[in-house]
Amino acid sequence: MKVAFFSTKSYDITSFEKHNTGAHDIIFYESTLNTKTAKLTQGCDAVCAFVNDHLHERTIKLLSEYGVKLIAMRCAGFNNVDLKAAKAANIKVVRVPAYSPMAVAEHATALIMTLNRKTHKAYNRVRDGNFSLERLTGFDMYGKTVGVIGTGKIGQYFSKIMLGFGCKIIAYDLYPNEELKALGVTYLSLDELLKSSNIISLHCPLTEDTHHLINEAAFSKMKKGTMLINTSRGGLINTIDAVEALKNQTLEYFGIDVYEQEEKLFFRDLSENIIMDDVISRLISFPNVIITSHQGFLTHEALDKIAEVTLGNLLAYQNEESLENEVVL
Ligand code: NAD
Repeated sequence: MKVAFFSTKSYDITSFEKHNTGAHDIIFYESTLNTKTAKLTQGCDAVCAFVNDHLHERTIKLLSEYGVKLIAMRCAGFNNVDLKAAKAANIKVVRVPAYSPMAVAEHATALIMTLNRKTHKAYNRVRDGNFSLERLTGFDMYGKTVGVIGTGKIGQYFSKIMLGFGCKIIAYDLYPNEELKALGVTYLSLDELLKSSNIISLHCPLTEDTHHLINEAAFSKMKKGTMLINTSRGGLINTIDAVEALKNQTLEYFGIDVYEQEEKLFFRDLSENIIMDDVISRLISFPNVIITSHQGFLTHEALDKIAEVTLGNLLAYQNEESLENEVVL
């Protein structure tokens, strides 16, 4: 199949070139897929897209006009795909449901431990010849209460890591997980979780129901001094409300790998540019905020798996086999 890949970076090209045994003719584009770039798919059977590509109704209509029959998402989330429009255009959508839940769970842990033990500050200090320990005091993870919102694949691994630290795990999910319950995880209502947690980590998908799940009302229920971690999707948090919660010290620590307006910022080097987004600039100014630019998935193992499963999805479509990773409405 001839496939146009959008939003590609060097690490995508390396892993897909390694795994593509010649079955597919791949064209790598650095640009985002949107109504303007859709014309690059002329003559292609499929597109391969990522988290910030625009697969809205108008783009999908254009893809259909150019002959695209398959949208292969090389990620788990598909909140940026208009599934109704794809169905109407007779375009199938496939994804990579699980490539390395451990990678994201471990990154959430890295954010927690960096905020807690301030290793980023210590690193810079020592390089500057400053061996002082002033203002580097952290806290023991042992015995802390960690609230996990969404205990699917990533939330489960994350909960097990936190259990390893000796934390008490409380969770909120529409469908409680029996294995976690057997390990001592207690499922509570969202309100109870917000009230009781020292650390809250978000692992549910972004849907109409979860959009701004963490807003002013949710912050008002949290303990003073809470740590909030988001490695799921930016839209789960009302960021303006998070800034207020940081200012009134409800949030003592805030670690995010995703940001609602990340599309214009993340995955690019903007070090020589003026950042026009005042909210992220305000967030960056807090000493107790860590932002990483959607790198939770970025491990060698995850990249290999993403390439293998995506190429398998393309091959299954080409061979008219059943699409086990199809996203259906
Ligand atoms: P999953 O589908 O296995 O688990 C999601 C869980 O959320 C499920 O248990 C589901 O029941 C629960 N859920 C759904 N709606 C809910 C609601 N309204 N309230 C509470 N719980 C709800 O997904 P996963 O593989 O664990 O991934 C979780 C999210 O992580 C994805 O949706 C994606 O947005 C994000 N993600 C981020 C990265 C990254 O690089 N930072 C990488 C992969 C995935």
